[in-house]
Amino acid sequence: MNTNNLICFAVLSLCLVLSLCLAFAETTPIFTGESWWNHVKYLADDKLEGRDTGSAGERMAQKYAVEQLKQAGAEPAGVKGFYQAVKFVSRQIVENDSSLTLIHDGKREPLVLGEDAIISTRVMPAREVSGALVFVGYGLKIPEKDYDDFAGLDLHGKIAVILGGSPAEIPGALSSHYQSQGERWKALREAGAIGTVTLMNPASMDIPWPRIALNRAHPSMALDYPEFNETEGDKISVVINPASAERLFAGSGHRFADLAALGKDRKPLPHFPLTVSLEAKTRVEVRKVESANIVAKLPGTDPALKNEYVVLSAHLDHIGIGEPINGDRIYNGAMDNGSGSALVLDMAQSFRQHPEKLRRSLLLVLVTGEEKGLLGSKYFAAHPTVPAKSIVADVNVDMFLPIVPLKILTVEGLDESDLGDRARQVAQSFGVKVQPDPEPQRNIFIRSDQYNFIRHGVPSIAMELGAEPGSPEQKILKDWLTLHYHAPSDDTNQHVELAAAAKYEEIVRALLINIANENAAPEWKPDSFFRRFATEPAKAGKKTIPVASGLN
Ligand SMILES: [Zn+2]
Repeated sequence: MNTNNLICFAVLSLCLVLSLCLAFAETTPIFTGESWWNHVKYLADDKLEGRDTGSAGERMAQKYAVEQLKQAGAEPAGVKGFYQAVKFVSRQIVENDSSLTLIHDGKREPLVLGEDAIISTRVMPAREVSGALVFVGYGLKIPEKDYDDFAGLDLHGKIAVILGGSPAEIPGALSSHYQSQGERWKALREAGAIGTVTLMNPASMDIPWPRIALNRAHPSMALDYPEFNETEGDKISVVINPASAERLFAGSGHRFADLAALGKDRKPLPHFPLTVSLEAKTRVEVRKVESANIVAKLPGTDPALKNEYVVLSAHLDHIGIGEPINGDRIYNGAMDNGSGSALVLDMAQSFRQHPEKLRRSLLLVLVTGEEKGLLGSKYFAAHPTVPAKSIVADVNVDMFLPIVPLKILTVEGLDESDLGDRARQVAQSFGVKVQPDPEPQRNIFIRSDQYNFIRHGVPSIAMELGAEPGSPEQKILKDWLTLHYHAPSDDTNQHVELAAAAKYEEIVRALLINIANENAAPEWKPDSFFRRFATEPAKAGKKTIPVASGLN
């Protein structure tokens, strides 16, 4: 090779390197997963003691979040700096002063608390209540579909027995909505019921019964403001272990096993009075708790659109310290929802390090009390720290599970607004497929904070990693729920796919940029059931706004 050729080669090489660099610049990933994981490691550290609502550990998480948001250049957008105070009452059952008894043919048969049943304190139980039991199928009234489980049933002064789930004829989002605590109770109260017994369907239980029962005495919470009481008249709420459910059907001519099998396939269920009645005595200790939502903003630049807000939300709280499993009492909540909170902090920093012109403003909202029934977001959506009408969308991130490679995203609310179309488009540009919720019976759509924004008319979505049916990834995701969801082992010793977390963050960032910069704000689909909330009760200034509180 002579010198001329060498120069030529050098020039060619330089061109090649330059063009590679340019091509690379176009698609350079911003996220690596490293900084995200560092945030998760802090939030899920044992010293934060599982970030229970109102706990010292949660306050440490909030302090950390505020520091990180400041460092990222985000502006305070709460009531007092970054903070918006939220008040709760906590309710803790005193089990040795509480009991459940089935009465059958004059015979009294106690139900063992924890083994056979749990008294839920999500509803404030009456000190004593007794009533005949009536099986009401799925216990749903859905006027839009002319569906009514209470038609022709006499529930006055009685306790409704409900099988968890919904019939196949009802679309997932709609059935989730009507299974929310407030909506369901509205229908039950109209029918005359004084309480509920819920039979968990073994086919759709994320957590096995022994783990549910383990933390039954953990306090539950409610917002300490009269406007949020949506279960007036509900005197008792009991959850039954499927393994003990057969006892309720003695002498009824029906078997729980048959009903559960119908429920598994979302088939129609019969309705009938039971021959067994229930007596409940409950004592609850009540105390006041205070916490806060954390709110920050990244201001937009467009003179008009900067007064509109795109919300990125995640819950910072988890369930705290509980009963030990394998000797570990700290429920660290690394994925639930250290992962989503970390993403919010990482996202703020990404806009500092890789500035992008945003026409609308971004509002970063780290809510409290999600695990207690979506309470922080319920409060925020009812009392936003920016004008309610200026919120154009909510992208909520809760437990997105980057524990398998990211090939498919499940989008909750995919078909409800054009946010779903935008999410699909953005995901596809990263080579990721999008699917609607493959398991609508799990009610994910109402089980996280996006739902409170939806109830106030704001188009919203949530996304989590999905998998092809029957694939090894699907098994990994399913096993995670069984073993680690709401367990102490949801900590930082578990395997995560940093590349999947990073790619997920890229998609969220691109989606936020799209929402901030498109001329049109996101809109509900004309045929979406949820479209009504954009014009209806919340904004018409009704006093009581029914908002979901889920199983989260
Ligand atoms: Zn959770």
